[in-house]
Amino acid sequence: MTVLRSLYLLCFLLISQVSFGQKGKPDRMKVFIDELMSKMTLTEKLGQLNLPVAGDITTGQASSSDIGKKIREGNVGGLFNIKSVEKIREVQRIAVEESRLKIPLLFGMDVIHGYETVFPIPLGLSCSWDMDAIRRSARIAAIEASAAGINWTFSPMVDLCRDPRWGRISEGNGEDPYLGSAIAQAMVRGYQGTLTENNQILACVKHFALYGAAEGGRDYNTTDMSRIRMYNEYFPPYQAAVIAGVGSVMASFNEVDGIPATGNKWLLTDVLRKQWGFKGFVVTDYTGINEMIDHGIGDLQTASAMALNAGIDMDMVGEGLLTTLPKSLKEGRVTMAKIDAACRLILEAKYKLGLFEDPYKFCDEKRSKTEIFTPEHRAEARKIAAESFVLLKNNGDLLPLRKSGTIALVGPLAHAQSNMTGTWSVAAVNDKSITLRQGLERALAGKATLRYAKGSNLTEDAALEERGTMFGKSLDRDNRSDEELLREALEAAHSSDLIIAALGESAEFSGESSSRTNLNIPDVQKKLLMELVKTGKPVVLVLFNGRPLTLTWEDAHVPAILDVWFGGSEAGDAIADVLFGDVNPSGKLTTTFPQNVGQIPLYYNHKNTGRPLQEGHWFQKFRSNYLDASNDPLYPFGFGLSYSKFRYSDIKVSSTSLKGNQKLTASVEITNVSDFNAKEVVQLYIRDVVGSVTRPVKELKGFKKVEIGARQTVTVSFEITPEDLKFYNYDLQFDWESGDFDIMIGANSRDVSKTRIYWEK
Ligand code: BGC
Repeated sequence: MTVLRSLYLLCFLLISQVSFGQKGKPDRMKVFIDELMSKMTLTEKLGQLNLPVAGDITTGQASSSDIGKKIREGNVGGLFNIKSVEKIREVQRIAVEESRLKIPLLFGMDVIHGYETVFPIPLGLSCSWDMDAIRRSARIAAIEASAAGINWTFSPMVDLCRDPRWGRISEGNGEDPYLGSAIAQAMVRGYQGTLTENNQILACVKHFALYGAAEGGRDYNTTDMSRIRMYNEYFPPYQAAVIAGVGSVMASFNEVDGIPATGNKWLLTDVLRKQWGFKGFVVTDYTGINEMIDHGIGDLQTASAMALNAGIDMDMVGEGLLTTLPKSLKEGRVTMAKIDAACRLILEAKYKLGLFEDPYKFCDEKRSKTEIFTPEHRAEARKIAAESFVLLKNNGDLLPLRKSGTIALVGPLAHAQSNMTGTWSVAAVNDKSITLRQGLERALAGKATLRYAKGSNLTEDAALEERGTMFGKSLDRDNRSDEELLREALEAAHSSDLIIAALGESAEFSGESSSRTNLNIPDVQKKLLMELVKTGKPVVLVLFNGRPLTLTWEDAHVPAILDVWFGGSEAGDAIADVLFGDVNPSGKLTTTFPQNVGQIPLYYNHKNTGRPLQEGHWFQKFRSNYLDASNDPLYPFGFGLSYSKFRYSDIKVSSTSLKGNQKLTASVEITNVSDFNAKEVVQLYIRDVVGSVTRPVKELKGFKKVEIGARQTVTVSFEITPEDLKFYNYDLQFDWESGDFDIMIGANSRDVSKTRIYWEK
């Protein structure tokens, strides 16, 4: 009997341990939070929903003078953009020692493409098509940010964008939902990992939703699109981040379907929570609730109640939730259950980060001295930057250059230290960035002569430059006249064998609130470039830009163009690596470069229309086209050259007729017909030829970045299943349909080898 009883007891213990083991953590978390919340007053609960800005960097209206008092009173859930582990420790100390319930704070920051070790701007990073490199960049960003006290980053930004007039195209991953989704997941995994260590931080996918579709490319402008387009094109990257377990979501400034995203219940609750199963918390963007007043939704009380009811859990800067919800609760416009639910989600995030166990988990001063801007991180940033550059042109194999003779380095971006890291690099230390001039000097030391001249200012219009600056980056304007600057540059050019022209946009010509209607290289720089070309010396254009620019003249007249975006703190060395062939360029565009602004929006995965151009024509009357320009881009999505040349075979498929859940293999052979070892981004596109709704002319469905040694041939294969054929139909059901499909593989979205198959359900 006793033996039996002990056996029974043992079994019970085992079973109960298993069930606690599986659900142990959430249960413990629930018990802990239940108990904590039972002690919280309404004010303290609302305090958790409040996210003021207090730091060295602000983007607007906030004042941080009374922040200590607010923390003591339990009126603050988190703070953002404080750069200093000491300051963060002190603020956390106030929270956990001097507030009644001792609840630790979240510390957020816009760590968008690196902390002090800055990686290329996200648009540049995406051009590496290297998911592991992108994940590593986020991992390093998390290590450095967490060493400085940060436990939450407002990244990844995954707004799909097809309008380069929008300055924030620089912060995203380009125009494609499939690639954008893969990058969203790589970033979330890089930042969060298992979210258990003190160098893993909470990510925040933003800006939900459709922010990149602002009309006319004007920042904060209205967006309006069909739901079928939202689900098929703009939503997937956000959803991918949710699938990867992102801990928070930021609502966007714009309206979605006639209702500001911040107050849009369909978006924040029905789609995000019910359809996608998101379990983390939703934060507004900067004063997003207050801006609903200007959207025309009502006063602050109305907007705040609407935001909470829609699914907002945390209010960035505006304090609408904190100040108006008590009244709304009394009037029955919100429920206590709603406030509790939002508060619980914030506390859960803190619990998962381990802040209740150790509020100083991310405040390790020793780490802040040894783990930020380390030689290892910088080496990684240099490598990744070189992978992100896109070789747009290389006539006569001008590149790579030899390290000999005399080289003229000309242009306002050749030695503009504060411009190297690009937009949203709030933790960057500008004077630690490597400029192109420094990179070239190092690479050429003792081997060749470098003659530097600035050549021009960034723009002819100082006021225009000023308007761009959000973070007060030095514009470094030269007071000499345009003529004098040009004269000096031409002197350098004439006495050199070759010219490197470092031109383009300043760092803050793209990014937030930096939309442009003219996408040319600024006039004063273009004039400089024309004069340099006139010298008859070979010219390499090293282009700095946060968006696609219109480069028709440059493409026609400059023999070599290397797009280097804003490559980050190690940009100068990375550019030298590529210019001299130590690294063979392998980046490919993730956004179309139009011929001119009038073609925008121009993107590869467009619909066919009922009147497409017939092959071989650029213009036909009564067909969908322009009188004065072809429909073609200057450089298509997926495009980028290498110092190697590749020969692609025709596509081969394992079958041309498939049924049900069979699998298709599609492959090509690629030969590197050059003497350089190379990496090549091989792309798979599919066209669903006939559908119950119209389908794009092609969609990216796979890609592989492969190494191909000099004179080697590799076979690259893709496995395709019916999953790859699915799309949201008119009823917003995600499914596939029987019919013909074009399967295409190629080096970019234009140059593909194609075959047709039939696939029946
Ligand atoms: C931007 C966000 C950013 C926030 C906090 C806003 O102006 O739209 O992307 O995360 O500021 O700095």
